[in-house]
Order: sequence, then structure tokens, then C-alpha cells
Amino acid sequence: QEKDYQFMLRTRCPGGFIPPELYLTLDHLSETYGNQTLRATTRQAFQMHGILKKNLKAVMAGIIKSMGSTLGACGDLNRNVMAPPVPYTNRPDYAYAQDYANRIADLLTPQTGAYYEIWLDGEKVVSGEEHPEVKAARQRNSHNTNIKGTEEPIYGEHYMPRKFKIAVTVPEDNSIDLYTQDLGLVVITNDQDELEGFNVLVGGGMGRTHNKEETFARISDPLGFVAKDDIYDLVKAVVATQRDYGDRHQRRHARMKYLVNDWGIEKFKGVVEQYFGKSLEAFRSLPDFKYEDYLGWHEQGDGQLFFGLSMVNGRVYDQGDLRLKTALRMLVKTYQLPIRMTANQNLILYNIQPGQRSEIQQLLQSHGVQMAEEIEPLVRYAMACPAMPTCGLAITESERVIPSIVDRLRALLNRLGLEQEHFVIRMTGCPNGCARPYMAEVGFVGIKPETYQLWLGGCPHQTRLARVYQELMPIQELEATLEPLLVYFKQSRSGKSESFGDFCDRISFESLRQFAQTYDPS
Ligand code: SF4
Repeated sequence: QEKDYQFMLRTRCPGGFIPPELYLTLDHLSETYGNQTLRATTRQAFQMHGILKKNLKAVMAGIIKSMGSTLGACGDLNRNVMAPPVPYTNRPDYAYAQDYANRIADLLTPQTGAYYEIWLDGEKVVSGEEHPEVKAARQRNSHNTNIKGTEEPIYGEHYMPRKFKIAVTVPEDNSIDLYTQDLGLVVITNDQDELEGFNVLVGGGMGRTHNKEETFARISDPLGFVAKDDIYDLVKAVVATQRDYGDRHQRRHARMKYLVNDWGIEKFKGVVEQYFGKSLEAFRSLPDFKYEDYLGWHEQGDGQLFFGLSMVNGRVYDQGDLRLKTALRMLVKTYQLPIRMTANQNLILYNIQPGQRSEIQQLLQSHGVQMAEEIEPLVRYAMACPAMPTCGLAITESERVIPSIVDRLRALLNRLGLEQEHFVIRMTGCPNGCARPYMAEVGFVGIKPETYQLWLGGCPHQTRLARVYQELMPIQELEATLEPLLVYFKQSRSGKSESFGDFCDRISFESLRQFAQTYDPS
């Protein structure tokens, strides 16, 4: 008799868009076939855990028939395309970012009918009209970007060497961790708010393998600027470069970041330009990026409101006084609210009438959901991957222990007279880095049971890579390790606005270590 294999599946939802009927379907399927929880991912999607093999078809069919999809959410191809989740109706730049996230997702969607044959017995459900430009661009064979003779003109028979991650954002908005993407696009508009084109960045990626020096986290490099009419050909040219030159022999060296790193950005650009058929323009200068979580109540620009809802580690569940899952189901059902998932495991409910605000807030609070201003800031900016017991690659705990880690850090900060301080904490159960710990101000990466690699020096806005401060930190030594560093920070920070991550980066790890060695806690 076959074992009861169980699976995780995740949704494909560019820009994190989940219409109300799809949310209600996911909620129902997770109750009926899953582990009764949903989990928001770090790429603006939902994951469902614990689905038995015999139920997979019912679950997949349910999602597809509710205009959702899982096609390309896992595997060696383009993953969920990200875009800032805010539903501003008076910001054309945000509308362009969300629109192009959809179009690029469509451009790079596998064309195979196998997905529908397997999960829907061949019935093809179309989840929305494809933009005609996208269809034409997929077929267009400029400079060998397309592979002839297969049903997949862009991927060919063998798809990509490894997963491929894309985000589209607007200047200043780093809510989607732009620098961690294989391909990052920044919308550039003119004075009339018309779309001119995109700044292009390439070669970001988080995943590493422990004790394999040749694997590393990397942030992306600027490649250039592309006019809007050329964006599809440029995306295809970058994809074709990685498709044809990415490492297909060593899987752990297969992400595009290694190709960019091994070649250098100039050579990489030269090859992309051969596929593209012309030169890229110079990268346009940009203001600094900021991280925004969009929690709480906001005007969306058309008289309606949106509400950013914090979900600790992205887990939607009912337990004890917290009945988040019930509350969300009631809200979506009653008010038919669409959702945009954030890249930090939270979600935004939008199209809310001002008159509905107080009843919605009351409903959330009566189900134990905290408002933005009530959330401990260390929790608000913390993120953990699922790790044990749902991820087979986990070496350490992550989601289940991060609440206790945050409590201990808060107690430590308070004891040291740093009550007002907070920083970005991210934790993963293995070096794969799903919660992007290498961008955090304080990152914990599971290395062996109860032991984490400690990364410091990332920036509150996730624009700089952190570095390894300590290779092996048993978790019981958390306070002993961080106390001297926080005392040093308190004594020597350059003004109240300098964050702990910025301080660690400025002061050098050598100074941090020297201070720690001579530190006397008494
Ligand atoms: Fe699993 Fe590792 Fe990803 Fe965590 S970081 S979810 S342990 S693969």
C-alpha cells in the first residue's frame, strides 16, 4: 500500500492579487484537505500545507476553477512575479508596476497543456485575457530568443537551469526586496506620469549551501534602462541568456546570480544585448529606496480605504484568542474585499468604504487581531520561514521559535535601556534563505540543531547585504552574543536615527568583535 504522501502547494498570483472568491476557495480547501491553515509566503502568494496525494487533484481543480492558478509557482521557471501591493488609484506608477507584473508573468507562463490535462482532465480554464502585446512578444523570435520546434517558445524542452525570480516596482518603494531578484524592473515615468520605460537590475538571489564557499547570497547590479516598447524583448533576452548559459551541471551553481558574478556585469550585459539586438540605455538615477509595510488604515485615492493586516509569520489560523482565519473569512465573504499579499507575509484588504471602517476594525479586534500600532515593532518587521515541521530541508526551527527569540530580544533591549529600539529580524531553518535573512539587520540562519549562523549589518530598507558575524551561535547564547554589541551600539551610534544594522555596517565587524571580547557585563 502506498504511503500517505503529503504535499505543499502555492498559488501563482502576480503582484499578490487574490480576488475574494479565490480567497474563500483557498480557505475552504485548507479546511477540507490541508492542515486548516494558510500561509502567506515571502513572494506574495499563499501556501497550503499537508495535502495528501489523493486529494491533490481536487485541490488544484478547486483553485483553477476559482480563477486561481499554481502553474509556475514552483519549479525551474519564472516564479510569482512581484509588485508593490498597494492599491493606490491615484498613482499611475503603481498601476504600471502591477500591470507589467501581470504581463511579464503571462509572457513567461509555460504553454504546455499538460497542467490542464493532469489537473482538469484537459478542460482549459482561462484565468483572464492575455494582453495582445504579450502574445505577440512570446512568439516573436528576435535574435534567437525563441526555441523552435517545441511548444515552449521561450523555455524550450528543458525549461530554465533553476528558478527565476522577477519583481517590478516604482522608485523609492522597496516593499518587494528588489535587490534579491534575478531580474528587477523599476518603472520610470515622465512629468505627465506616462510610462517611459524601466530601469533593469540583474543577478540577485539569496540561496546558499552550508560549507560550500562557492555558493553565496548576492544583491543585484544595475544593467541599464529599457524603453517600454522593448520591455518584453529585454525580459526574453535576459531569460534566454540564463537559459542558454546558466549552469545546468551543478544545481547549486545554477541561479543567474552565479552567471552574472562569474562573467561580470559588462560581459553579461554584452550577451543580453546580442539577444536583445540593441544596446541598453544608461541606468537612470533613482532616489533611495525605502521599505514600507503598509500596515493599518490608508486612503487608496478614490475615497475608499485599504487596510494592511499583520499576520505573524504569515500564518492564517485560529488558535486560542486569535481567530484570524475566521475573521478573514467573514470579512471577505461579507464585504467581498479583494486582497493583495505583501512580500513580508502580511496582506492588504482594499476597496473598503469609509463607512465600513469601524465595523471591520471591530470584527478584527473581537477576533484577537492586533492593529498596526499595537504590534511590537520587533514582531512587525520580523520574518521567518516555515522550517519544521513542514519543510523537509529544515535543519533548525524557525517559525515556531521566532516568537520566543523576539521576546528574548525585547527583554534584552529593555534591560539595556534601549526600549525604543527595533530592527529587522529574519530567521530561516536552513541556508536556502527563503525568508531572505541575508538582507536583515539581524539574520539567523539554521546551521545545525539549535544553532544558527548570525548575520548582521543589513539595512532597515533592505538595500544592502548583511555579513556573517558568527558562524555558529547556539541559540541559548543569544543574549550573551548580542548584549555587548547592543551596548556598543548604545554608546557609539551616530545619532538616534542610526539603526542597529547601519551601525554594525559602519563600525566594522572587527571593532564589534574587539568590543565583545573586552566587554564586562558587570
Ligand atoms: Fe525550508 Fe530552508 Fe526555505 Fe526554511 S529556508 S523554508 S528550512 S528551504
